Order: sequence, then structure tokens, then C-alpha cells
Amino acid sequence: MPTRKLYWQDPYRTTFTARVVQRLDGQRPGVILNRTLFYATGGGQPHDTGLLGGVRVLDVTGDDDGDIIHWLAAPLPEDADEVSGEIDWARRYDHMQQHSGQHLLSAAFQDILYRPTIGFHLSANTVTIDLPGPPPDDEAVNRVLDFVQAAIARALPITAREIPLAEALRLPLRKPPSVDGPVRVVEIQGLDWSACGGTHVRNTSEIEHLVITRMERRGDQTRVYFLAGARAYDDHLQRLRVTRELGALLTTGVDDLPAAIGRLQEQVQQSQKGLRQAQEQLIRAEAKRLIAEAPHSAGVDIVLHILEAENAKEMSRLLQALIAPPNVVALLGWTGGGRPRWAAGRSSNVPLDMLESLAEVKEAFGVQGGGSVDMIQGVAADEETLHKVLHLLQAFAFDLPDIEQ
Ligand SMILES: [Zn+2]
Repeated sequence: MPTRKLYWQDPYRTTFTARVVQRLDGQRPGVILNRTLFYATGGGQPHDTGLLGGVRVLDVTGDDDGDIIHWLAAPLPEDADEVSGEIDWARRYDHMQQHSGQHLLSAAFQDILYRPTIGFHLSANTVTIDLPGPPPDDEAVNRVLDFVQAAIARALPITAREIPLAEALRLPLRKPPSVDGPVRVVEIQGLDWSACGGTHVRNTSEIEHLVITRMERRGDQTRVYFLAGARAYDDHLQRLRVTRELGALLTTGVDDLPAAIGRLQEQVQQSQKGLRQAQEQLIRAEAKRLIAEAPHSAGVDIVLHILEAENAKEMSRLLQALIAPPNVVALLGWTGGGRPRWAAGRSSNVPLDMLESLAEVKEAFGVQGGGSVDMIQGVAADEETLHKVLHLLQAFAFDLPDIEQ
């Protein structure tokens, strides 16, 4: 005997008693009852939670025989042949609002835009339906929402009844039924007929609100994210809070927010551009100062400089500024935190093979590094090694033949 689904008779009932038919003693304890109010996951609607004989119901699933299995946090007491159960009503009613909202929204997309619903998903955070084709434009979506809102305002009764398959096939069902036997048809009076095993509110006014929060293109389909009932209301309050905070931050009204943010973005871009230019000027001035102070040997200025607090990225920009003019060899170290880094380079007219120098420092100090004939860089194990690397590279520069001859 399949489990009797009390939630079909009265989806508003929250407590019941039932006889234990079978206990399942696997890794997680399960129990089958002769009847239940606990909805088993199916048809896009998640299972109910609640208490059974005082034990928490974690999951509810249906099997092929029509049995409903309640998965429990702990086994039921040994002698419990009869148990009382209570479902989590807030969770169930939320599912009813979302599911009825889905039937109404699917009917609207079908009737207004001729787009059938090919998927429905309901979870704790999101409710979606999938439609064929690309996302409809705003005007079309507004027509769909107007249809939905009008149906909510009319408080159309939502009823469910089990009828023979032949009779069901004469109804304008949105999708052909997938069962051979009797079909449970959920009707939004005069508006929608769906084969459905879910739980629904009494009439469309209990859907309360329905909003589409976003649409997402997925291949040749569109996923429509929507919220009904308390979820739509909570979402509305949250959006009000966010826009109010944004309005206060930008000292503007809600309608002007997009323009205000556009202006802000423009200002940020201008500021960033100005900042970049100023930084480049600073780096060029610093390079000029370092070259002026550097020892001069055989026609070459040999700069050796350790950067401390500055950003490590500044090192390569400073190096490039240093070797842009002719007659410079630049040796830079950075000790701003973590492993010390070094970088070295020379102007294009200076005949110093940096890769050869790199090979020498690698061999002498076992440091890591890489680069090209005019610029090399690497890391050192500690500050002492860093200084040794830079001074060896400096010695190579002092050994250069006079380029002015
Ligand atoms: Zn349904």
C-alpha cells in the first residue's frame, strides 16, 4: 500500500498521526508511515521538514512503490507504533506560494509570449523557470507581469483533483501528463491546468506578489529568476534599504542613482588617469635624481639603489625610467616584505650582457632569476645575499671598457 498523501487532501494542515509501517536502519534512520503530511521532494518542489515522534525529519523521499520515506536525525523510540508528526509550516507555506506563483507565471509566459516552461527549480535561495529562446525584452516581460498581477488581484481559486487520464487529456494541460493512471490536475480557475503533485495555496491572492529578479541566457534557453509571496516582499524591502543607502551616499533620489553612479565612474577614471601621470612624473624625477647622484665610470652612470616601503611593482617601472636614457647601468633591490627582490638593467648603448651577469650571480649565490640581455631580475634568500648580488653586478659595471673611447 503506497503512503497516503494527506497533504493532497489538505495542504494547510500541519499536524497528523500515523502508523509506522516500516523502519529502515541504515546509516541514517528512516521510517515509512501509512499516511503523511510530509511532502517528498518531487516536481521541482523540495521536501518538508519538521518533527516525527519528537525526532527531526531531515529529508523526505518517495520510492517507486509510492512509499514515502522520512529520513530522521535519530531512530524513533522502539515501541513507537503510532507517531504524531508536525511539519515546518513556514517552510511549507513558502513552497506553496512559490509553486503556485510558478504555475501562474508559466501560464502567463505561455499565453502572452507563447513560451512554454521547460524547467522549474525551487530552492532555499532561488526560484527559476526555464524557457526556450533568448530572454524576452522589457516590454514583453512587463506584459507578462501585468497578466500575473491581474490574476493575483482577482483571487482566482486554485484547486486540485485526481481524474482519469482520458478526462485529463481533454483539458488544455500545459504539458502532457507523464503518468499512465489517474492524473492530479491543479487548476487556476479558468486560466491554467497543470498535471502536478505539488502543494498549492487556496487562491491566487495568496501568491501576494510576484517579481522577476533577473533573466539569464543559457545556450538557446533563458532562465527566469523570480520570487513570490514573502520572498518577493523581503526582496522588495532589501532593495528599498539598498537604494536608500545608495541615495544617502550619493545625495540623490532613487531615480537619479544610475546617472549619479555614471558620473562617479567617470570621475574615478579621470582621477586614476591623473594619478598614473603623477606617478610617472615622480618616477622620472626619481630616476633623474638617482642618475645625477650615481658614480660615473668609463662614460657610464652606475646607479645602485634599494627601495624599501614602496610597492615591488614600482621597481620595474623605476628600472625602465633609469635605463631609458643612454649610458646608464641600474641595479635595484627591494626589501619591502617577504623575500628581497632585485632587478638590473642597462641602457641600449651599454655593452654589458646582463644574461652573462645573471649566470655569474646565480653561480656565486645560488639565487633565482631570469631576464634578457638588457634587463634581469630575481629574488634573494635574504638581505645579505641581496647586497652581495647587487655589488657583484656593480663590479661588472665598473669593469666595463670606456664607451666614450
Ligand atoms: Zn506544479
